[in-house]
Amino acid sequence: MSTEAQLIERYFLSLGAARTDVALGIGDDAALLDVPADQQLVLTTDTLVEGRHFLPGAAPHSLGHRALAVNLSDLAAMGATPAWALLSLNLPAIDDAWLRGFAAGFDALARAHQVALAGGNLTRGPLSITVQLAGLVPRGCALRRDGGRVGDLLCVSGTPGDAALGLEVRLGRRPAAGSEELCRRFDYPEARVQLGLQLRSLASACIDVSDGLYADIARLAAASSCGAVLQVDDLPLSVALCAAAGDAAWRYALGGGEDYELAFAMPVEQRAELAGRAVAGGVRCTVIGRLRAAAGIELHRAGSVIQFSHSGFDHFEV
Ligand SMILES: [Mg+2]
Repeated sequence: MSTEAQLIERYFLSLGAARTDVALGIGDDAALLDVPADQQLVLTTDTLVEGRHFLPGAAPHSLGHRALAVNLSDLAAMGATPAWALLSLNLPAIDDAWLRGFAAGFDALARAHQVALAGGNLTRGPLSITVQLAGLVPRGCALRRDGGRVGDLLCVSGTPGDAALGLEVRLGRRPAAGSEELCRRFDYPEARVQLGLQLRSLASACIDVSDGLYADIARLAAASSCGAVLQVDDLPLSVALCAAAGDAAWRYALGGGEDYELAFAMPVEQRAELAGRAVAGGVRCTVIGRLRAAAGIELHRAGSVIQFSHSGFDHFEV
């Protein structure tokens, strides 16, 4: 029988990056962190619950990655640099193979983003994973949802919709053959942290796409007291998504969710600047519409205004 302290020592004591600004890390009642005076602390948290946010039997390595990645994505949307994480695990039983896999997935992503695990706790209970992530942003420089202006271009990074189709494969609703890349996009979301840093000087408003591009653009537009026009024909669809979903590919891109891409507004005059930087950052950004004065989202497709209901895409109601 392992005690909580033994399990923490075995699996979590040296997870993530070693940072000199962790004055006191795992082992005391709480962590002590040095925050530079010219920076603002940026905090977020997300919980993944078995059966709600991931399927029973999901690979622990991907869960370790995913639990951190969804929080990294929130900091990316704020233009923040991630720094410290707390981890709370509810485990139904001590499973060494599961813990080893989970810790490895978390560790690899944490090190890649220079994040130190500064504390947490382990409890017995139905499987759920909560990560709290803290980052830093120069005072007054954070990206927000509410800075968009009428006329600003709306853009999205990467190729939304891939992860939603990958999830359908994981749910057994589609064959896996030929959709390995789409499954990887669901299992191992890539938070756009570097892009978020670049957008500090380019974007007027930003949000990460977790609930679907349509819903999240609507949130950004509403927060900015605007509406939006989106050009469906301009959505950046991956070759893999088009091959798997055919004519429905755009519906996945608009409504799918789980993308963890960044959607943002930016003044028209920044367009050329973004194109140059996006190439440098390695992730493509695509202009897909504009903010407008009238409330609501208007979709244009092949020269017509179309209706779209994203209510059918709540994939986790299994
Ligand atoms: Mg978010």
